[in-house]
Amino acid sequence: ERFFRVAVSPVGDGGDRLVMIFKDQSEIRRIDRMRADFIANASHELRTPLASIAGFIETLRGPAKDDPAAREQFLQIMQTQTARMARLIDDLLSLSRLEMKPYLSPSDRVDLKPLIEGVIDALNPLAEESGVRIDAALGGDPLIVAGNRDELIQVFENLLENACKYGRSGGLVEVTVNRAGQQNGIDVSVRDHGPGIPEEHIPRLTERFYRVDVETSRGQKGTGLGLAIVKHILTRHRARLTIGSRPGEGATFTVHFPPAGI
Ligand code: ADP
Repeated sequence: ERFFRVAVSPVGDGGDRLVMIFKDQSEIRRIDRMRADFIANASHELRTPLASIAGFIETLRGPAKDDPAAREQFLQIMQTQTARMARLIDDLLSLSRLEMKPYLSPSDRVDLKPLIEGVIDALNPLAEESGVRIDAALGGDPLIVAGNRDELIQVFENLLENACKYGRSGGLVEVTVNRAGQQNGIDVSVRDHGPGIPEEHIPRLTERFYRVDVETSRGQKGTGLGLAIVKHILTRHRARLTIGSRPGEGATFTVHFPPAGI
C-alpha cells in the first residue's frame, strides 16, 4: 500500500501552467502506524496490572477487610504488580532515551571482559534462584570494542537474564568469545540449555512486546521489551545479534561486534 500527498501549484510568468507534485508518504504512514501500535501496546501492558491493583484495593476495603490472611495475600499480589509496572516504565524510559540520542561517541572504548564478568556477578543471585550456573570462558586478553559501557551492560544483562529465566533449571548458561582476528571483530555468545525457541518466532523476538508464549512468559518477570532494547543498542554500535535455537536443546544469542578500529 502506498500513499501520496499531491500538491498543485501554478508556474510560469502568467501562472498559466500548473505543476503537480506527488510526495510519497508511505514510509511516514508506516512509522505513524508503528508508533500508534506501540502506544496502544504500552498502555495495555500498564493497564493490566493497574486494573488488578484497583480490584484488590476494592476487595481490601470491602469483603477482605477483617481477614488478615487474605489481606496479606492481596498485598503481596499488589506488590508484585507494582514491581511489574515499575519494570515496564524503566524499559519504556530506556527505549525512549535511546531514541533521543541516536549517535554513539566514536571514541568510546570498552573492555568487554570485566564488563561481562561484572554482569555475571550481579546476576548470580538470579541464576541461583533459577537453578542455573553461569560459566564464562572469556580468555585472558582484553576484549576491546567501540561502545558505550552502560548500554553494553544493559545488553549482556538482558541476554543473561533471559538465559537464566528461560534456561532449564539445573542447566548451564555458557558465555563464550570468538575473536576471529582483530580485523574481524569479536563475537560473544550466550547459550542456554532450556526449551529453546520454535523457529517461526525467532525473527520476531526483537519486536517490542513480542513474547513467545504469553502464558508461560508472563509468569516470568519480563516486559517483552528486553530484546527490543538489545537490538536498539546493538544497531547504535553497528553490532549485530543472531539467534539460533533447536527446540528442546536451548538457545544461543550471539552478538557480533565490528572491529574496534584505532
Ligand atoms: P521478556 O521480558 O519477556 O523476557 P525479551 O524481549 O527479553 O522479553 O524476550 C522476548 C521473548 O523471547 C521472551 O518472552 C521469551 O518468550 C523469548 N526468549 C528470550 N530469550 C529466550 C531464551 N534464552 N530461551 C527461550 N526463549 C527466550
